[in-house]
Amino acid sequence: MPDFPKSLLEFERRFPDEAACAEWLLEHRWGRGFLCPGCGHDGHWRLGRKVLTLQCKACRRETSVSAGAVMRRSHLPLKVWFTAAWLVATHRNGMSARQLGRQLGLGSYKSAWLLLGKLRAAMVDPERGPLAGLVEVDESGVPFRDRGAAPGRPRPGRSHEGKLLIAGAVEIKGKGPGRARLAVIEDYSADTLGGFVAGNVAGGGTVVSDGWSGYRKLKDVRHDPRVIGETPAHLVLPWVHRVFANTKRWAMGVYHGLRAKHLQRHLDEFVFRSNRRHTPCGAFARLLGLAATIGPCPYKTLIASGSRG
Ligand SMILES: [Zn+2]
Repeated sequence: MPDFPKSLLEFERRFPDEAACAEWLLEHRWGRGFLCPGCGHDGHWRLGRKVLTLQCKACRRETSVSAGAVMRRSHLPLKVWFTAAWLVATHRNGMSARQLGRQLGLGSYKSAWLLLGKLRAAMVDPERGPLAGLVEVDESGVPFRDRGAAPGRPRPGRSHEGKLLIAGAVEIKGKGPGRARLAVIEDYSADTLGGFVAGNVAGGGTVVSDGWSGYRKLKDVRHDPRVIGETPAHLVLPWVHRVFANTKRWAMGVYHGLRAKHLQRHLDEFVFRSNRRHTPCGAFARLLGLAATIGPCPYKTLIASGSRG
């Protein structure tokens, strides 16, 4: 992605108006040339409209450049979408819908909430590969809040009173961490944790755990239990513990505690940021790329899985 902006000024130069955003979408969606979704014909005219529209020369069908993109049928200009993606991807900790709405000058909270929810939906690449090689895996609890109530206090140990349970995995690359994954889990049972490992760690990899019995029956991966005894867990599994600590700090700092209903979406956002923390401009490119191809994310889907913040 050679011409992706590295600063706000570069962003403004690269995407000054609707036309520039539409051109980018056109290039990204139909890099090998436009094919009519109706009849497959490649001949087309451009129709100058609010959002660039192409018309098939054979069947006359009209196709918007935002077809198949998350911004499909949005009443917001493409420039607002692109700016939102820039803000959300490059802001170190992300922002709440209210903050985003204020930055973009959106009139209603609902517009901002929908915009942010749809961008968050584009933070998970449907084709991402599982973690591989040496992978730290552990489980933890994050404090949550009920509507209007103060966040629950975390308690030590494996008790989950007042906490939402999550499982985490982090690749170990040399002396540092690689990619991370986080998932909401029901309990700390072998079935649940085995399912998490199976869904997130490639076969042939090695899971490093604290030796908890839930990891004893893992399939298709090697298991390297580092029984803790007197050693603090963060020394045995430093990277996954750092991810847990950062998740909790972020949840409290940006959202003042997370709600149970929206937890997985928030974890997905955190992982997206965490995996790209050193390359915020790459994060913008990635987010925009996924947003262009992920398809529209209907309001009902957002409500069902939730992402209010
Ligand atoms: Zn056609």
